[in-house]
Amino acid sequence: MGMYSGAAILHADLDAFYASVEQLLDPSLRGRPIAVGGSAAGGVVLAASYEAKRFGVSGGMPGRRARELCPRITFVRGHFDRYQQLADGVMAILRDVTPVIERISIDEAFLDVSGSVHLFGPPDVIADQLRRRVRREIGLPISIGVARTKHLAKVASQVAKPDGLVLVAPEREREFLDPLPVALIWGIGPVAQARLRSEGIHTIGQLAATSPASVRRLLGEAAGGKLSALALNEDPRRVTGATRARSVGAQSAMGRQPATPDTVRAVLGHLADRVAVRLRAKHRAGRTVTVRVRYPGMRSVTRSLTLGEPVAATLTLTEIAEQLAWQALHEESQRRPGEQVQISLLAVSVSNLVARHAVQQELAVPPGDPRREGSEAGAARLAVDTSMDAVRARFGRGAVGYLPAMSRGGVPDDFRELAEKEV
Ligand SMILES: [Mg+2]
Repeated sequence: MGMYSGAAILHADLDAFYASVEQLLDPSLRGRPIAVGGSAAGGVVLAASYEAKRFGVSGGMPGRRARELCPRITFVRGHFDRYQQLADGVMAILRDVTPVIERISIDEAFLDVSGSVHLFGPPDVIADQLRRRVRREIGLPISIGVARTKHLAKVASQVAKPDGLVLVAPEREREFLDPLPVALIWGIGPVAQARLRSEGIHTIGQLAATSPASVRRLLGEAAGGKLSALALNEDPRRVTGATRARSVGAQSAMGRQPATPDTVRAVLGHLADRVAVRLRAKHRAGRTVTVRVRYPGMRSVTRSLTLGEPVAATLTLTEIAEQLAWQALHEESQRRPGEQVQISLLAVSVSNLVARHAVQQELAVPPGDPRREGSEAGAARLAVDTSMDAVRARFGRGAVGYLPAMSRGGVPDDFRELAEKEV
């Protein structure tokens, strides 16, 4: 976009977002090691402040372990209702400098500012002003990387943390990348890192110097090819404006549990509720329902159903999900006669999305198929959902719900919600 040919892609990423919000809301927590979620007695830390990260505390760690590493840590409950609102406020500031913005999670986004330099100055000046505005108007620290490609900008923002700005000049890209650890490559996982380490490859420069063919042999065709290209600084991806999500889904890891009707109904009811609430919040409904069942040992199967009418009602989605899950579970029990079927994960998603206002009220179709939103019974289901959505919006998610969908312990739903949200 525009005539500007220098480094004009920004990657903006809020620092320790959830923990920073807690420190913003409660000044007595500022400068102190805190963990959102978990407790000294148990539970899982969802996010840690920089003061806690310095002791080695990180998200996903048991609370007990966090306390061992950092005895002075303070555990706080999350203010889940505030995270989305504050992050949206930050995005609105970023959007002030360019319409070409691609939000990739609740707290990070790419911006292409090549069309904005004539208005606001060079990209690093724009980035500096954005950081100041986010700090002044929202009260949160944000790091920004400025570079010629998305990958370089993403790496630069990680290098800039906490609370920094890093510009990678086009003529110094190789020099910038070479000494950095491979862990900073966007999308590299712990398994790939371990394999590379076992081959003596620790830095991005070393990876770039390894032949792409041997990297593909080591990490697999797709992953190896992608990581080689990024290490070689090849990344043609453009910043695209937000595309509408094509599906809405939720999943629940279950460890290893017997597939009993009660368990399956409770988990699917819970997932269907999360998916349906999000569909309705976006004024959308979908015609294809997909259920994924994973068995211990990572093998998984999916079953889908495409309906004549789009659904967004919690009960309807729950019923369809149950029907699909049991198709898969019956097949599984036939494969292993006499054995109790165990499940390790269930997932529900809805695709083929349409805008809800496109759903027409049908003229009386007696006796009324409750799955059809236009029927009387279907309309009644949605009326119940709509009033529940309103109560939850005011009083929180736990205030009301279908019985199996109420909280099941573990990671708070609101946190899951944020993590799963497509933006
Ligand atoms: Mg972040």
